[in-house]
Formats: sequence, C-alpha cells, structure tokens
Amino acid sequence: SVPLGYFGGIGGASRQGILVKGANFLEALTKVKTVVFDKTGTLTQGVFEVVKLSPATGYSSEFLMEVAAAAEIHSSHPIAKSIRDSYGLPLEPGTIEDYQEISGKGVQAKIKGYDVLVGKAVLLKEAGIQIPDTENYGQAGTLVHIAVSGEYAGYILIADRLKLGAKETIQALENSGIKTVMLTGDLQAVAQSVADDLGVSEFHADLMPQDKVAWLERLMAEKGSNEKVIFVGDGINDAPVLTRADVGIAMGGLGSDAAIEAADVVLMEDQPAKLLTAINIAGFTKKIIW
Ligand code: ADP
Ligand code: MG
Repeated sequence: SVPLGYFGGIGGASRQGILVKGANFLEALTKVKTVVFDKTGTLTQGVFEVVKLSPATGYSSEFLMEVAAAAEIHSSHPIAKSIRDSYGLPLEPGTIEDYQEISGKGVQAKIKGYDVLVGKAVLLKEAGIQIPDTENYGQAGTLVHIAVSGEYAGYILIADRLKLGAKETIQALENSGIKTVMLTGDLQAVAQSVADDLGVSEFHADLMPQDKVAWLERLMAEKGSNEKVIFVGDGINDAPVLTRADVGIAMGGLGSDAAIEAADVVLMEDQPAKLLTAINIAGFTKKIIW
C-alpha cells in the first residue's frame, strides 16, 4: 500500500549513493521522530591514535603493543584495526591460537603460548584479573587493557575524532524537531565528552550489544503510531539493533557484509550528512506524490 511514486525516489537515492531496500523504508523516512546513532565508527571516525602506552611493571611497551596487535589480528572492530596499524610491523598468524572475539568487550587469544586478553576493564575483571585503580586515566580517550597469562600487563590509551559533518548533521536533525540519541559500549566519561561536542539530546554509555537493543525498544515505545525510530550504525556489533529499528541504516565502506544484509538502507559513503540527504529525498518524493 506504499504509493508507487516512492519507487522513483529509490532511483534518485541510489544516484546519491544511498541504497534503499524498499519503498516502505523511503516512506518511513518521512516520519522520523528519533534517530539513534552508534558512536564508534558512526559519529566518530573509528580511527584511533595511540595517545599513551602504559606497561605494568615487568612488561615493555614493545611487548605490550605486539601482544595487543597480535590478539587483534582477526577483529574487524575499529579499535583492532587502529592497534594493528599503530604497531605497524608484520604479524605471523601462525603464532595466534584459540582466538575469540567477545562482542562489545574485546578479544582473547593465545599468543606464543601466552593467554592474552585485550579489551575493556570488565573483560579482564570477569577473568579475575585486578586492574590497578591508582592510575588517573582522565577522559582523554578509550582505554584498552591487556592481560597476559592471568596478570595485568598494562593499557593503551587511544583517542578517536568526530567525523566530518557529524555535528552539523546532529544540529540539523535537532533543528527540524527530530530527537537524536547516541548509544555506545564505551565508558561514560568518553561518551559524555563526545555527546557534549555533538549536542545530542540523549546518550547512554557502557552498553553491551543487547543493551542497545533494549534502549532502542524503549525509545520506540515513546513514539506515536505514525512515527518512526531509525538507527544508524557502522555495522560492527550492530546487526541486532539494525534489524529491530523501523529503519536500520548501515554506513560506509567499513560496514561488514552482515550489516549490509541486516540494514534497510545503506549509505555507501562514510558521511553522516548522507542521512540528511536520504531524509530530504524521502520528503521531496512525498511532496511529488501528494
Ligand atoms: P561502540 O558502541 O562505541 O561502537 P562497541 O560496542 O563496539 O563500541 O564496543 C564497546 C567497547 O568494548 C569498546 O569501547 C572497547 O572498549 C571494547 N571493545 C570492543 N571490541 C574490542 C576489540 N576488538 N578490542 C578492544 N576493545 C574492544
Ligand atoms: Mg560500533
């Protein structure tokens, strides 16, 4: 029962690098109440620079970077890519065994016989490893903790930047009466600083992938029958939320095949402003139809 004219809108969108998988999704983009964004790789570049290397007593910086880069060898997470790139040296895949990614927390692997954990504090805590809280970590970035053979080996502090156009996109949505929400698995302090820079109306931090689904459902419960909630993500860990939203939007060339599969709309270019283009095309198409 979607007006035929929306099919024409799909063609217009695709010429702008916006793939819309059905006329109903274009129609839904004319009724947006809330846009929910993932943080890392969606509103931020997801290209982290190493700001500080802090090995625990008995470990060297070189060793810390090497085990971290090796443990992250198979992960497509932006943090993993950034750590591998900063390490810069070739890694031998043969020396990495029992690799496992713990979605939204980090990775574990056996490197040259050592059991290695790389990820957020809770990953190490759940393995019974104490993290010294004497450090003043500050709010400068995302902390990646490393454990080797059941012992705390230190941390890498990495920093990300806002994507070009992210702030303008949030402002434009807010100015047109659309509520913007940021969801992230990162720490509260990091999320707070990014949220302040962007001016989102609401944010929630320290979330596991399933918590993001729960938040999305809560936001969907607030909408009227003719209103839509859309989710925009880079696709890493995002597939469940992409599927649950009225319109799930995957962004950029970074996106995994699973995300492109799960999404209703794919923004081919890695630019938040393309979301505004998509909403504008939908609105324009509606005007032509009526
Ligand atoms: P976001 O919601 O910001 O996109 P994720 O849910 O993907 O973040 O991940 C949440 C947190 O889990 C990250 O901020 C990081 O601390 C940790 N993490 C996830 N994957 C990895 C990984 N491959 N290596 C290290 N840390 C990771
Ligand atoms: Mg993410």
